[in-house]
Amino acid sequence: MTRNGNEWRRGGRSAWALLIGLLAGIGCLSLAQSAHKPSDEIAILYSERAGLPITDTIQSALSQALLAGGVERDDLFVEYLDLARSRDDQQRNEFIALLKHKFANRQFGLIIAVHRRAYEFLATQGQDLFPSTPLIAWAGSVGEPTRVNRSGLRIQESLSPRPTIDLALRLFPHTRHLLIVTGVDDPLFPYLQELKGNLGILPSRLTVEYTDHKNFQQTLVRVAELPKDSVVIFGAYWRDADGQSITPIEAAQQVAAKASVPTFAITWDGDVNQGFLGGYVVDYLATARVIATAATEHMSGKRPLSSPVTVLPAVGQFVFDWRQMQRWGIDSSALPAGSRILNRPEPSWQRDHSTMALIIGLVLAIGLLWSVRHSRASRQSAGQSPADDSSAAMVGIDRVRQHADQLATTNRQLLQLSFVDELTGLANRRRLDDLLAQECQRANRTGQPLSLIMIDVDHFKAFNDTYGHLAGDDCLKTLAEIFSSLVQRPADLASRFGGEEFLLILPETPFHGAIEIVHALHAAIAKCAIPHLSSPTAPQITCSSGVLTSQAPPIRQPRELLAEVDRQLYRSKTEGRNRYTALNLSATALDHAHISQ
Ligand code: GH3
Ligand code: MG
Ligand code: MG
Repeated sequence: MTRNGNEWRRGGRSAWALLIGLLAGIGCLSLAQSAHKPSDEIAILYSERAGLPITDTIQSALSQALLAGGVERDDLFVEYLDLARSRDDQQRNEFIALLKHKFANRQFGLIIAVHRRAYEFLATQGQDLFPSTPLIAWAGSVGEPTRVNRSGLRIQESLSPRPTIDLALRLFPHTRHLLIVTGVDDPLFPYLQELKGNLGILPSRLTVEYTDHKNFQQTLVRVAELPKDSVVIFGAYWRDADGQSITPIEAAQQVAAKASVPTFAITWDGDVNQGFLGGYVVDYLATARVIATAATEHMSGKRPLSSPVTVLPAVGQFVFDWRQMQRWGIDSSALPAGSRILNRPEPSWQRDHSTMALIIGLVLAIGLLWSVRHSRASRQSAGQSPADDSSAAMVGIDRVRQHADQLATTNRQLLQLSFVDELTGLANRRRLDDLLAQECQRANRTGQPLSLIMIDVDHFKAFNDTYGHLAGDDCLKTLAEIFSSLVQRPADLASRFGGEEFLLILPETPFHGAIEIVHALHAAIAKCAIPHLSSPTAPQITCSSGVLTSQAPPIRQPRELLAEVDRQLYRSKTEGRNRYTALNLSATALDHAHISQ
């Protein structure tokens, strides 16, 4: 009993020792972690509150772009500073003390300031906050910003209503009156003053009216009663002449709903979705990418930020709403090249294959009925009596069977023709777009990962030049066979993206699954050993590929996924070809992997 008791105590002591050892280990680990790569950390300071559509759009665009650019989620530190309400020095000094205390152990490699107030704060009262840390500022458009004493980059949104006005006048040449809807100016951001300054010289037939002296209700009344030859240009709206606040997006919605004349937006693409016909606006996603690229290039030492700050324009784009285009009878051919059209429905035949199959089936069935009736009529006119009908009936049944078989075959062929690439037999671009849209929707709904592999044949032009186009075609067919043999699950799809580029769509496939497939793919191409003596990469055909795994959230659209996987492919090309580059957007830590063969 005593022995047992001693053993127990001894056992207890060693358990304690183990526990203490473990705790010490964890302590060391967390110390090591808190000390790791301090300069990889980025502080993002926002100065407008979250929850507004415009701020949320910017925030999600920016974090998406940074993560896609290779920044790790754990390295992002986001702070909202309520700088609009806390304007006096004492409150701001409290902010500074708070932030200094909170981030005392951090050495940020970069600060990103989003919104003008955050930028001004860092340029003035907050200049001692994280001193000499470089800054990237997305600081709006208005007025001359205060000079900041750091190296960095400032994104300047150009507030020019002219591209939108010129387009409005082109689409509606009988316009005689412009109503420019804005609220009152903020003393810090004289938006309307800037807008007026950028209006330029307008045709003399036009009269221009502003709404800043009205309250919002009066503004809506004015919008509703505008003469038919008017156009509304919606600027930005935060506060009306009575001092009432209104969120810009609500103002946009109500103005668009009240107007019975064409309405245009000039600030951001989110406005266009509120019922405007369109306008030249800031493309937030593309602008976020500019920032993310500068940030990642700076962090990796590829292109350090300069002092004084460089100024870059925000990315602008013409954006239109399809529903409003229908309402105003605007054809997309009338829009500037490269315009983005929101809410355009897919053609029904693309959306729903079964509808198309039904239509083809119906047409063929009508043709069949017609031919049966036609042959009966010609028999009757040839003088056959009803007594001959029993044998004729047998012949008729055979014919119907034949026609039915033909119909089924033609139907199958027609369906295949429209979705199958003729040369390779893989799914064609139409089928690819269709399926990718469906799978994106499904992945967003279910939260399952969706992986894509984009493949491009290396130096294929040289292959054609050396061996001829027919050999080129054969090579593409062989590669297509490899690709379709690799994707075996029913939901997978191997498709020809165009030319010598292919895309594999792998629904519900996690990152490591996609990596396995891309490994097998490169190995199979190498094993096939199609000679390519004019290739600078290898004496045989090689491919470069990009791999992307994405998982909701964030919810992603097919276009973005294609652009991202294409970027990965491009990296493989620039880094030497005959390799893959992979990006996992579904993990907190972003994994990049490379192989060379
Ligand atoms: P890189 O390694 O950078 O991808 O170089 P590349 O020569 O492969 O790329 P590039 O885009 O310059 O050329 C692609 C070539 O692929 C040009 C085009 O003639 C050839 N190609 C595209 N489609 C077909 C096809 O259906 N059959 C044949 N034979 N060639 C094709
Ligand atoms: Mg290519
Ligand atoms: Mg190529």
